This record gives sequence, C-alpha cells and structure tokens, in this order.
Amino acid sequence: MSDASPIWIRDPLAILADRAERGIVVKDGRIIELVPAGGVPASADVAVFDAGEHVVLPGLINTHHHFYQTLTRALPAAMDRELFPWLQALYPVWARLTPEALDLGVTVAMSELLLSGCTTTTDHHYVFPAGLEDAVDIEVAAAKRLGLRVLLTRGSMNLSQRDGGLPPDSVVQDEDTILGDSARVVAKHHQRGADAMVQIALAPCSPFSVTTSLMRATADLADKLDVRLHTHLAETDDENRFCEQMYGCRPLDYLEQCGWLNARTWLAHGIFFNPDEMRRLGKAGTTVSHCACSNQLLASGCCPVCDMEEAGVGIGIGVDGSASNDGSNLMQEVRAAFLLQRARYGVTKVSHKDALRWATKGSAACVGRPELGEIAVGKAADLALFRLDELRFSGHGDPLAALVLCGAHRADRVMVAGKWAVIDGAIPDLDVADLIRRHSSAARAMQTG
Ligand SMILES: [Zn+2]
Repeated sequence: MSDASPIWIRDPLAILADRAERGIVVKDGRIIELVPAGGVPASADVAVFDAGEHVVLPGLINTHHHFYQTLTRALPAAMDRELFPWLQALYPVWARLTPEALDLGVTVAMSELLLSGCTTTTDHHYVFPAGLEDAVDIEVAAAKRLGLRVLLTRGSMNLSQRDGGLPPDSVVQDEDTILGDSARVVAKHHQRGADAMVQIALAPCSPFSVTTSLMRATADLADKLDVRLHTHLAETDDENRFCEQMYGCRPLDYLEQCGWLNARTWLAHGIFFNPDEMRRLGKAGTTVSHCACSNQLLASGCCPVCDMEEAGVGIGIGVDGSASNDGSNLMQEVRAAFLLQRARYGVTKVSHKDALRWATKGSAACVGRPELGEIAVGKAADLALFRLDELRFSGHGDPLAALVLCGAHRADRVMVAGKWAVIDGAIPDLDVADLIRRHSSAARAMQTG
C-alpha cells in the first residue's frame, strides 16, 4: 500500500473540517493534507477524486450494537414491551442462534452500517449457546471481508434465573469458560496501534445477567490485557430496582465496587445517572454511548446528554441492537439523537453539529481511538461522502445541516483506512438480494424454532 498514489478528494460541496475548502489528501490510510481555499496539494502525483457533489464527513463511529439481533427485528412476541419483558421474550429465540445465522446477521448489520456512512463499529455479542463458541471469530471474518474497522466485544452472561438473574440457563456460560475465551480472542484478534482494523474489548452484559465475581474478574483481565471494557448501565428503572434489591446500591455504585469506574470503560445508555453520578463518571473518564432510537422504542427514557457533557462525560452514538431500533443506520441515528436531545434541551443547546460531533469525535473517545472521528492531518482516512441528489434534499440551503435535517440515510462513498468500502452507494462484490434471501430464511428458522 505504501507505493499507492495519494488521493486528493477535491473541492467538496461541504466538509466537516476547517481550512479544507479545496478538500483533503489521503495516503497510506491517513489524511496527510488539508487543502485550504485557493490552495493546491503540496503532494506530488495525486490521483483526483472529484467531490463537487459530495458532503464529506469523518466516518461515523457506532459505539453500541448487537449484530445478531438483525435476525429478530419487529418480532411480534417482543413488541410493545419494556426492556425486561422484551428480553425475556427474546432470550429463548436467541438461544437458537447458529454459526451460519450469526454470519448472516453480522453481514447484514455491518453492510447496513457501512452504507449509512459508518467506518468503525463496535458489537456487543453476549449470546453463546452450545455450538456458537466461535462467535467472535465469525464476526472478525465478516469485518475483514467488508473492510469495516471494528471493536468487537467478547460479551458474556453467567447469572441465570436459577441464581436470581434474568436470562434462562440456555444462554449463559460459566465464568471459567468466559474468561478463557476472552483471553483467547484477545490473543488471536486484537491489534494495537493507530492503524488497527480489528480490536477486542470485554463486555459482561448487564448487572442483571452477570455475577459480581465475573464483573470483577473481567475488569482484572481487561487491565492485564490492556483492552477496553463495555456493558449496559443505567438503562431502565427496573435495573435500578434490581440493583437495589440484589446488591443494595445503585447501578453506578455497583459498577465502582466491581472495579469498572475508569477510563477503560464505556457504557451503553446512561439514562438514569443523577448529578453526583455524572460528576463521578466525568472524573473517572468513563464515557457513554447514547442510543436514541432504542431508548425511545423500549420507552426506557432519555439520556441527559448535555448535563453529562457539562459534567465532563464524553458522549458517543450507538444504534443498539436491531431488535430495539430495529435498523442499523448510523446516519439516521444521528438525526434521532439530534431531535431527541433538542426536544429535551432546546434550540440553543443542541445543533446538528453537536449530533455529528457525538457520532464522530465523541464516539472515537468511547472506543479509545483518538486517531479516528476527525478530518485532520495525521488522522485515519476514514470518510463518509453523501450526495444530496434525492427528493428529500431538494431545495436545501446549508449542505451539512441538510444531511441531518432532511434525513440522509445512505452514503454514496465510504472510505476506510484509505480504501473505498462503498462505491456509488453499494458495497463492491456484495450481492444484496442474495444476502436478504439467505438472512430472511435464517431469521424465519430461528423465530419459528
Ligand atoms: Zn444494547
């Protein structure tokens, strides 16, 4: 790759960067130059990509998902329920997940994400029924096929109904198995450094599906292996009550007792933190993934994003699993977060630029990758380019604002590490019709048992 010509992404219609009116130059997976108004690239022998009809964003970063849930979208048995009964309806269906179905579910979710302008995604995979021990390996292979940058988490559940937890026995594993496999997938797949394409984090599912012993042991292991930590926290009032009854404290106190309140950790949801808890999170450097669609669909509540930012808590954006969104479109999630937070805080506190910032720089902090999420010299060449040629954009004023306000949903071009992963609104070599056919068939088999 080092002998490839630099690419000048020239004269964008608009770009989310300062002093880059004439575009940017990328080489070897990095942004090497911003070209200001009236300027030309200093680099020699540049290949030109004419971006005259494109709005250019840093690639969007998705900080929370459960890919396998694309197989259980809009499932009647789980509809119109809040989180706990929703989970209880879905656990037995998810227990039927097979390696083949997971591969299809992951491919669908990653493809949706890429096509919506996402260049880096996390996934929180915590369902390991017998026969699916290599779930993370399946996800890594799919990410490499599609050219998407990933932070995949080795999730876990080991507190079943028998021991006072929420999930049935069929979807939990024992602590030794979980820790052994966590170490295995980190050793096998986790890349280090600013150019890493595949990273692994450890992610016990939630206070109501994991034992205290596993929470503590996972924090120790993450520390030893120097990888990130992720879990769901402060998502519902039911969770508050569960923690009060089971552990005699609120969820954040519990998290701290387990050794998790630090900068290694990013949390999904964060709806129910009080002002004191927000200060503690900010001080610790723990970040939060805001999942606006999921929180609305499950009627969980509204993450107090601006209060958290004022308390020093970094905020990223996540689509959450496709059984509570039920799509994996990150650009639409930006719009959902913008609208929800604007309704909460008003027009002077939340703009379209805030929502874009959460999904880029904010999300980059959640995944511990400061080299992502920004168009600047030295940062990764991860870009999302949108055209404004659909009916929904016709008549727009500000092109950048139009993406969020008019509801952009499909990128025309997506670049990951300097390589085009989406061209003309499509993923090269991906037969979408065939994928939908096979994925739908696997979903039907899983749903009907
Ligand atoms: Zn989730």
